[in-house]
Amino acid sequence: MGFIKTLSNLFSPSSKSDEFGYWIVAKCNRCGETLRSRIDLRNDLSAEYDEADHTTFFCRKTLMGEGRCFQRVEVELTFNQDRRLILSREITGGQFVEEA
Ligand SMILES: [Zn+2]
Repeated sequence: MGFIKTLSNLFSPSSKSDEFGYWIVAKCNRCGETLRSRIDLRNDLSAEYDEADHTTFFCRKTLMGEGRCFQRVEVELTFNQDRRLILSREITGGQFVEEA
């Protein structure tokens, strides 16, 4: 009985199939800690409209490490209208880390 239960746990959905999540990975300038924060592409973005009526989506996040460092890393992202492509991004207090 225990064996069957283990099997079903193996096939339960994993958090990796995160269709509506975008993960920010950044490194703190002060202590070098790697910070991760998830953006929910459905809830965390706010729509902005330019003069030509193009829609973009903007998101601002503050990342804080778990260590003793109190540096705040501020991230600002602008997504295109289908919320898939990042048009521009800004970071203060840290550096973006590109994960393979
Ligand atoms: Zn830090």
